[in-house]
Amino acid sequence: MKQTPISELGEFALIKEITQHIKLQNASTLKGAGDDAAVLKFGDNVVVTTDMLLEGIHFDLMYTPLKHLGYKAVVVNLSDVIAMNAMPTQILLSLGIDKRFSVEMVEEFMQGVYLACEEYKVDLVGGDTTSSLTGFCISVTALGEIGDDELCYRNGAKVNDLICVSGDLGAAYVGLQLLEREKGLFEKEGIQPDLAGHDYILERQLKPKARVDILKLFKKINLKPNAMIDVSDGLSSDILHICEQSKMGCVLYEDKIPIDYTTYNMAEELSINATTCALNGGEDYELLFTVPLEAHALVEKTPEIHIIGHITEESKGRNLQTRGGGLTELKAQGWNFSN
Ligand code: ADP
Ligand code: MG
Repeated sequence: MKQTPISELGEFALIKEITQHIKLQNASTLKGAGDDAAVLKFGDNVVVTTDMLLEGIHFDLMYTPLKHLGYKAVVVNLSDVIAMNAMPTQILLSLGIDKRFSVEMVEEFMQGVYLACEEYKVDLVGGDTTSSLTGFCISVTALGEIGDDELCYRNGAKVNDLICVSGDLGAAYVGLQLLEREKGLFEKEGIQPDLAGHDYILERQLKPKARVDILKLFKKINLKPNAMIDVSDGLSSDILHICEQSKMGCVLYEDKIPIDYTTYNMAEELSINATTCALNGGEDYELLFTVPLEAHALVEKTPEIHIIGHITEESKGRNLQTRGGGLTELKAQGWNFSN
């Protein structure tokens, strides 16, 4: 495919190229990209969050298709808005574009951004575009709207709350390990990557979902979490964030942690423990939340949500109840599962 150097376009034409396909979908967007600033009109509280992704630190272009990267950069930010129990509405996108990029590469990245905007019904309302000497840099800021009664902080967990999680955990991590293994084989021995049959774990790593469907489910079944976070660092770190901010302890039940069988299979192939992947892997973007004990019957009959533990007094500590029945202290990282 023809590769057009960015210098052929110049800054203004490049920004035009980046922003020309924007379709606004939200009533709260009065003015999107194109002026000096966007103008938004909210009737309620505004949630705002930002994340930076740097080449070589957060992503590797050897095995990350640009379209997927654009999609994921948006989705991980939407996930933070969603973890406040808020519906995402707008994003801002700032790019530091590496010298080796062509116009076509930027377009491919933007296709992913647009796809995520369309799927999650958020408006790209502005950003900044500059050149970078040190690889591709992406910064996304996401906004959302939420009523006072709906807000879910990390600090709301109460004694005896049930700890719940959506979906399954650990798949994104084993997906990444697979990509790293294949990259290593290619670099060292020139062996072509063999990724066949690993669609689920690869999709979890390369094209994650933000669980906006779970927010809708909460509304439908009339469930309001006391505390919530999205699983970006790993179950262990993320439940510790809830416990620390809520000044609580917890027990997680190892045998209840949802792990897909394809994650188990890959963990076995890589000689790593699947529970360790779920606890310390991260990038699952599932919702981890606590609900009052009274919601037990309701949650139990909801297949999308798994009860994986309970909140205790802080003095009881923060522990994993292993399959054998013993308690092991949860650590933010580097915790080793020896069984
Ligand atoms: P300024 O010089 O005022 O910073 P720019 O020339 O950087 O304006 O940007 C022009 C318009 O294009 C602004 O509305 C800005 O928000 C938008 N824009 C620039 N880069 C991006 C981008 N990467 N994604 C979305 N909108 C962008
Ligand atoms: Mg600018």
